Amino acid sequence: MSALTEKQAVDIVCLKCGIKLTLGKTTLQYLGTTFPVELYKCSQCGLVYIPEELANGKMQQVEASMEDK
Ligand SMILES: [Zn+2]
Repeated sequence: MSALTEKQAVDIVCLKCGIKLTLGKTTLQYLGTTFPVELYKCSQCGLVYIPEELANGKMQQVEASMEDK
């Protein structure tokens, strides 16, 4: 019963404000490193939506690139 959790990247609504999140550039911080990403965020309260799979994927990429150096 997880039909409602289907990924719909273009229709994410802020639970606080009830408005659609807009795609914009923001900065993530991980292990002291900041890197720019494009994520959905709420223009009203600033909430940033990071899909779990994206977070995991990005983090793995960052870790890999850091280990390379
Ligand atoms: Zn909001």
